[in-house]
Amino acid sequence: MPRIVTELPGPRAREYLEKSQQYEPRSIGYQEPLVWEKASGCVITDVDGNEFIDWCSGVLVTNVGHCHPYYVEQVKAQAEKLFNCYDFISTPRVDLAEKLVEISAPHLDKAFIVTTGSDATEAALRMARRVHEGWEIIGFHGAFHGRTLGAASVGASLGVHEGYGPLVPGCIHAPFPYCYRCPLGCEGPESCGFQCLEYLDWVVSQESCGELCAVISEPYQGGAGSIIPPPGWFEQLDQWRRERGLIFILDEVQSSFGRTGKMFCMEHWDIQPDLVTLGKGLASGVPCAAVIGTSEVMDALPPGSMGSTFGGNPLSCVAALASIEIIERERLVENSARMGRLMMEAFAAMQQEYEQLGDVRGMGLVLGLEIVEDEASKQPAAGLAAAIVHQCYLRGLACIHPIGMFGNVIRVAPPLVITEEQIGESLDIFEAALQAALGDNG
Ligand code: PMP
Repeated sequence: MPRIVTELPGPRAREYLEKSQQYEPRSIGYQEPLVWEKASGCVITDVDGNEFIDWCSGVLVTNVGHCHPYYVEQVKAQAEKLFNCYDFISTPRVDLAEKLVEISAPHLDKAFIVTTGSDATEAALRMARRVHEGWEIIGFHGAFHGRTLGAASVGASLGVHEGYGPLVPGCIHAPFPYCYRCPLGCEGPESCGFQCLEYLDWVVSQESCGELCAVISEPYQGGAGSIIPPPGWFEQLDQWRRERGLIFILDEVQSSFGRTGKMFCMEHWDIQPDLVTLGKGLASGVPCAAVIGTSEVMDALPPGSMGSTFGGNPLSCVAALASIEIIERERLVENSARMGRLMMEAFAAMQQEYEQLGDVRGMGLVLGLEIVEDEASKQPAAGLAAAIVHQCYLRGLACIHPIGMFGNVIRVAPPLVITEEQIGESLDIFEAALQAALGDNG
């Protein structure tokens, strides 16, 4: 069990919370007052020596656990050799490109290494627009692809557009299958025949100027509240875009490297995206991201037209290679699938007891708990969700502040090395926190 040794937040944490308020902009996202000092595996230690089990890894994304000894050893060894060599070829960069091609789908045969998920989105958009005659991009409501202008424009999540003036021209948005609250009012995917996909044609007929180029989507929408499309939806979307000759960009920045119980989330479905963006869990902590794709699209840009100062630097590439090696060696993809099933079963049982757990959804070790007033009304309960996360914090369980279109989804995404024992402990803490929050709110 995590050890809480001070009143929370402790004295050193309070000092840094005050300093942060003074010196950092308030635009930084709100989280519980946990000031991190160090972390190992699935356990975080704060600056006062308090311990927390980590459920935040779906965002961070330390898939192999914090400070894995082999990972640390590899990064340290590289730090003594070479940090950066810009566009010159380095062995780690080429080895990483080879590895990504090797472990991804057979039709993807090139990899371009960048630094952040937003960079990867921008690079993919640039490639698509360069290879295709059209330039309009279709994205989905609720999507998050990054905060740079192009990425924010093709996305459509809360707070990403408002107040920032005109978006990049040519971005068209359509409804995503948020089946728990279907935007088209359908009963459910079993009976609706994917009306949202039929509606795509209507959106295009009304908004496009005839210059369609690509479709971009996350496999599941993370920021919108772990929204997972129903089986068959992606296959139909892939067919729809093929019939129109469009490029398909799949944003696997969050969903890859074992997070969903497969190495890549696309393996759950029979689809063939032309470009796949990667980030977060690719290097399990050190900034590293990538676009993998078909050479037909990736080679469309002339030599010298892509690249950045830090993209593909040897240190990041070594971190990514070490992380992938650990995932393979320790069979973390399998662990993610198995532990994810245990968690789903436990939450499904809890749902029978607490109607405030409106929807419980997930794949592997990324789950979303949609907190509602009650089962019948499904009224989003953002305040209750925040109170649960706070009560978790007080008991030694670190969760990301609730997210989603209504701010009422608690994300459960521990590092993929989590053990059955840690799952049991964290679920006990969660249930106690839920009861305490219901007591406070009731
Ligand atoms: N795409 C997805 C699906 C993401 O979840 C994120 C980050 N939350 C990004 C892109 C942007 O990545 P980064 O923050 O590294 O720029």
